[in-house]
Amino acid sequence: MIVNKPLVRKHTHEVIVGWNGHEVKVGGGNPVVVQSMTNTDTADALNTALQVKALYLAGSEVVRITVNNEEAAKAVPYIREQLDKMRIPVPLVGDFHYNGHLLLQKFPDCARSLSKYRINPGNVGSARSRDDNYASMIEMAIQHDKPVRIGVNWGSLDQSLLARMMDENAQLADPLPPEQLMYQALIESALSSAYKAIELGLPENKILLSCKVSQVQDLIAVYRELSKRSPFPLHLGLTEAGMGSKGIVASTAALAVLLQEGIGDTIRISLTPEPNGDRTKEVIVAQEILQSMGLRAFTPQVIACPGCGRTTSTVFQELAQQIQNYLRDQMPVWKNQFSGVEEMKVAVMGCVVNGPGESKHADIGISLPGTGEAPSAPVFLDGKRVTTLKGERIAEEFQAIVQRYVEQRYVK
Ligand code: SF4
Repeated sequence: MIVNKPLVRKHTHEVIVGWNGHEVKVGGGNPVVVQSMTNTDTADALNTALQVKALYLAGSEVVRITVNNEEAAKAVPYIREQLDKMRIPVPLVGDFHYNGHLLLQKFPDCARSLSKYRINPGNVGSARSRDDNYASMIEMAIQHDKPVRIGVNWGSLDQSLLARMMDENAQLADPLPPEQLMYQALIESALSSAYKAIELGLPENKILLSCKVSQVQDLIAVYRELSKRSPFPLHLGLTEAGMGSKGIVASTAALAVLLQEGIGDTIRISLTPEPNGDRTKEVIVAQEILQSMGLRAFTPQVIACPGCGRTTSTVFQELAQQIQNYLRDQMPVWKNQFSGVEEMKVAVMGCVVNGPGESKHADIGISLPGTGEAPSAPVFLDGKRVTTLKGERIAEEFQAIVQRYVEQRYVK
């Protein structure tokens, strides 16, 4: 018997990010949270606020901004204020490296305006100052009652920890191979930093972890082990995933394996945008991964065939794209008006071979005529053929049918 078993999530603590009425719950069995990061200069508060707004409207539930210098730290409260004026209640995470301890202390309004701090234990100062600087950041988190993500990255792993582990490894009768040592060092850095934060007084339900690497198999191996050893919610992401389809495919390959094993409480897709490219793409990819895996539903899905020699016109591709854009554009309004509309499936098919069959399985479907077929497009609602569209206005008429269907079927 073929059994499609429901996915069982690994248990982790619940961490609340945000403020009263606008909390985002991460871990503890809550739905996997989508997050993203800006690439504006944070000191440019207005442009950063506008990009945060765009990411939020695209579906990012938490947005991270870099806080890399005093100008950026001064801009953070203003960014928060702008977002509040625009009614964008998204929690902001401050990404700190090297000088976070100084910035958080010197700019308390920045520390207060952020909803979470990301601390990279490999980048908190020299060997001599590291412990003090780290402790100072944790103390700021305690003072301002903020959660932290202890975010370890292979590119900035704590070098003194790695050196110590290499020395110890060299003394072993059966030393670990280099890649195993790398995995262990990443995990050791994240976990030891988390337990140090607890010793310093940060409650354990204020801690999330990540251990990012840039290779798919490495990421899977590291997170499998980290998940076994960590009660903290895990932030998943393939770091430096790359550009275009390579970045999307590599991120999906890595995250899908881990999510399928119940590992991961929040995800970020790190795509290198094209120059002047749309930053919101990383949010859409994150949503599509979760929705394709049946973990969450964000927007109605369009099922479209790839097309082949049976459909030589571009009408079908254009209609599929148009319907997909239309559904996504409607969602900000629809999600407040129509209950469950994000689960809807719309089939747009290219010919009679699979068109009627796939259309019947969807909530709404249209089977366009392939080459040599009669110029008519049967439309199916809930598996039944209800009408046939013809002529130049098929796209507009089909869109109107979709709108009517949503109003009747998903009304709250
Ligand atoms: Fe080709 Fe028709 Fe199949 Fe689409 S449904 S891929 S047009 S055979």
